[in-house]
This record gives sequence, C-alpha cells and structure tokens, in this order.
Amino acid sequence: MEKHQVVIVGSGPAGYTAAIYAARANLKPVLFAGLQPGGQLTITTDVENYPGFPTGILGPEMMELFRAQAERFGTQIIDDVVTRVVLRERPFLIEAGKRQMHAEAVIIATGASAKWLDIPSEKALSGHGVSACATCDGFFFRNKEIGVVGGGDTAMEEALFLTKLAAKVTVIHRRDALRASKVMQQRAFANPKIHWEWNQEVVEVLGGKKEGVTGIKTKNNQTGEHRTLPMNGLFIAIGHEPNTELFRGQLEMDPVGYIKVQVGSTRTSIPGVFASGDAADPTYRQAVTAAGTGCMAAIDAERFLSSGGHH
Ligand code: NAP
Repeated sequence: MEKHQVVIVGSGPAGYTAAIYAARANLKPVLFAGLQPGGQLTITTDVENYPGFPTGILGPEMMELFRAQAERFGTQIIDDVVTRVVLRERPFLIEAGKRQMHAEAVIIATGASAKWLDIPSEKALSGHGVSACATCDGFFFRNKEIGVVGGGDTAMEEALFLTKLAAKVTVIHRRDALRASKVMQQRAFANPKIHWEWNQEVVEVLGGKKEGVTGIKTKNNQTGEHRTLPMNGLFIAIGHEPNTELFRGQLEMDPVGYIKVQVGSTRTSIPGVFASGDAADPTYRQAVTAAGTGCMAAIDAERFLSSGGHH
C-alpha cells in the first residue's frame, strides 16, 4: 500500500498553504485537489481583500499561484476526489475510487459549498437559468433581467457583478435589512441597476428547460402576499455549508457540520487529524484566514509527527 506522512484533502487557500508549509518541512505532502480544484475562489471574480495584491487579483488566477507555489516545493497534487477515509486507527486510510493510501497525518481542507433554497423548481431549472455562480453563468444573461437571492456579501458581490452584464438586477431578500458589510451595501445601494424586494421568500421558480427561467413566485413573509416577478435568470447567493460529509461520524462536529478544533490549534477529536479553512470555520470564512489555518495545520502535523505521534 502507498504510504505517506501527510495527506491533504482539498485545494483552496487552506489546502495549498498547508502543502507549502508541509513540503518545506520535508514531509512530502500529497494533496487531493477534489471536485472543484482551487475551491470557491475559482468561481469568484476580483479578490480585493487578500493582502499583498493592492490592485486586486482574479480568484482563479490567485489559486493558480497558490498551486504553483505548492508544486514548487514538491507537493504531489492528485486531481481526484477522496471518496472514503478511515480515521479509526493510524495509519489512516484514504481512498479515491480504487486508489488507496495510508497516511500518518491528515489535513482536512475541504472547504464549503454554496447553499440552495431546496425548492423543487430550483433544482429542475438549475443550469437552465438558475445558478449559484454569477462569474460562471452571468455571461448568458446579457441585457436580461435577473434576480439575486440573499442579503449577505456574496449576494451583493453577485448582484454588482451582474450589473455589468444585465439590464436589471433585483435582489430578493427575506428580511428588510442586509447582512452584508457596510462597504458592499453602499456600493449596491448606489448602483442604479439594482432593485430591491424586501421580506420576500422565493416559493417557486417559473419556466422550463426549453425557455429557461421566465419569473419567480414570491411570498411576502410580513403580509403573506404572493407575487409573480418576471425575470430571465435567478442567482442563489444565500451562503455556504461545510463539505465534511466524508468525516461525519468519525470526527466531532457542530450541528451544522463544521469540524470542531481545539481552540488555538487545528487539532480535531482524533490525534493526527487536523482541520483547516472553511470546513472548520463557521465564523470568518475568508481566503486569508483559510490560508492562516492551513499554515497552522501543517505546523501542527509536523510537530505531531516529529513527536512520534502524540498530540
Ligand atoms: P452569509 O453572510 O451567511 O449571508 C447569507 C444571506 O443569505 C443572508 O442574508 C441570509 O439571510 C440569506 N439566506 C440564508 N439562507 C437562506 C434561505 N434558505 N432563503 C433565503 N435567504 C437565505 O453568507 P455569504 O454572503 O456567503 O458570506 C459568508 C462570509 O463570507 C461572510 O463573512 C462574508 O463577509 C464573506 N464574504 C466576503 C466577501 C467580500 O468581502 N467581498 C464576499 C463574499 C463573502 P439573513 O440575513 O436573513 O440571515
């Protein structure tokens, strides 16, 4: 059986930073890049808050730089998806389809994914006018009318991006106040192409696979009033959930599925398993904090291994 000192699961800022540090500590890390190599930043546009890039950088470009840096120090990157892990005993077992390997330490950096409204018509029209990624799909809605669901920074970012392409963007939010940061709120309120629907819940997406989205049905949760809003596309931007299914039942998690770590470290409930990035962070969820905890995980793993496997 293939055997490694450190296997890293995930390829966002946390995974690549863990790889850079582990490789430089001569641990010869193996990194599984997963379903969406580069992670969530590959489906965003400008990153303006990552220190070191004073004029901003495109998310996908930034992740290519992270990857190149991890490779430069000898990380073995496998473009495959981990399908099973067994953490009961060391060495830990990692499986990606038919490929199996043992690892003395595992660094989890599986991140989070976009949430959906979970109504049947949303699923049916996904890829036919319903999307969770403006950067990926905004192009299809040139000069059209689009809706964006959500009131956080992601929703503001999506709405602002879409105003560059669409004729009109309507933000549909379930409350009457935004959760987004002040600077993003100000930008969105100042944009004349953005319209607002407050206290509205989307109850149905109208349209079909052929014609795409034709509108949405909403319910005002204050008055109970139902309305139909015509539009050509709907972007769902209501936040994220951690990608920790693989570890369920094996590691301690909070009720939502974020992996629990000991305060001030990346140590999980199993010695030798370390968690970093959004998978263990319900609070900050930023690229720079993910990179920070990726670094911590590599240092924690290195200390664990050099102490002979004691936490
Ligand atoms: P978020 O802050 O959790 O906001 C999610 C929004 O969606 C909230 O307004 C929420 O409504 C709404 N929502 C959640 N579930 C819903 C449902 N089932 N139906 C309808 N609406 C629903 O998530 P986020 O916007 O993805 O941001 C996550 C973190 O990343 C934040 O810390 C944010 O600052 C950061 N971020 C920063 C940037 C940036 O600085 N450029 C960009 C993106 C994200 P309620 O308000 O009623 O809860």
